[in-house]
Amino acid sequence: MRTKFVAGNWKMNTTLSEAKALAAAVAKGVSPTCPVIVAVCPPFPWLAAVGEVVSGSPVALGAQDVHFEKKGAYTGEVSPAMLKEAGCKYVIIGHSERRHQLGESDAAVNHKVHTALEEGMHVILCMGETLAERERNLQERVFQRQVYAACAGLSDEQFSRLTIAYEPVWAIGTGKVATPEQAQTAHAFVRERLRVVYGAPIANAVSILYGGSVTPENAAGLLHQPDVDGALVGGASLKADQFLAIANAATAP
Ligand code: PEP
Repeated sequence: MRTKFVAGNWKMNTTLSEAKALAAAVAKGVSPTCPVIVAVCPPFPWLAAVGEVVSGSPVALGAQDVHFEKKGAYTGEVSPAMLKEAGCKYVIIGHSERRHQLGESDAAVNHKVHTALEEGMHVILCMGETLAERERNLQERVFQRQVYAACAGLSDEQFSRLTIAYEPVWAIGTGKVATPEQAQTAHAFVRERLRVVYGAPIANAVSILYGGSVTPENAAGLLHQPDVDGALVGGASLKADQFLAIANAATAP
């Protein structure tokens, strides 16, 4: 049984006081008996402060990116050890905004996944097709390439700390959400590809989140698909009531 997981990606939003208030409202709204894993991923400079706010609550802290080396002369970059010391358990890697705006390659994503896992973090690996790729019916080729490239060389133990987020690029921040059927088809395909290469125990254990314009209104339909194990939420995670409503939708039968 995979535990449902809802993570909020705040991207480059919030002032420090807004971040603390948002984190406090989320922490207040998640009960200690909540059966869903809930995490917030604020911008780097607010991690430690938000970590203090959520500490002692069931809400976990995550970062939005990490460098692929453990330390050294990498101006402006942040290592997994730094994220851990700031209180992070999770790190998002390979978000489409980094792949497409900053040219992050599959090889760089694989390197980051390895480094973060070697340093003991839990990884949320993002993948998904662009609109042009879907219009040419290439999405399954893209899923296979991205997942195999990102996961190459991982041990069974490392897979136990990996979550995949299927995020169709055409659905991110656009208000155009995938249908529950489109999400289920994509997730089932990714799980099947994992099974072929890594075997059924790993494929069945890996959680696959859906991301892309998730709202309280569309969350239940998506989250009740058999292979949709939660949501990576962007815009709606900036409003505590909306984010909590999405987490609640994941708990409902
Ligand atoms: C995201 O960027 O991870 C995301 C899912 O954004 P949004 O919910 O705003 O589409």
